[in-house]
Amino acid sequence: MREPGRCHLDPLGNLHICQGVSLGNVFETPLKEICARYDADAHPICGPLLAGGPAALVTEYNLPHEAAYADACHLCYESRRALRGRFPQILKPEQMYGDENL
Ligand code: SF4
Repeated sequence: MREPGRCHLDPLGNLHICQGVSLGNVFETPLKEICARYDADAHPICGPLLAGGPAALVTEYNLPHEAAYADACHLCYESRRALRGRFPQILKPEQMYGDENL
């Protein structure tokens, strides 16, 4: 995540570092510029993930949570769903999350 070896491009132009975590949109910003300005530690989602995994999203943003999750990615996904309204330009597109939190 700090120096990603690959990202995924969806049909809408979103460049995903992980599914539903967009670093930018190549239809709006050149890929070279998206890559150049990416700062993993300062990124509002990647920064906490690097610092403490998905649990750090919960503590950083004081999110409600369950006692247990299927795995780390399950907690990450649920935390990101809860944060979509706060970071709509990062946590997208809605097809990755459903639209119940919009
Ligand atoms: S914890 Fe899982 S879902 Fe979250 S960014 Fe990492 S790989 Fe992706």
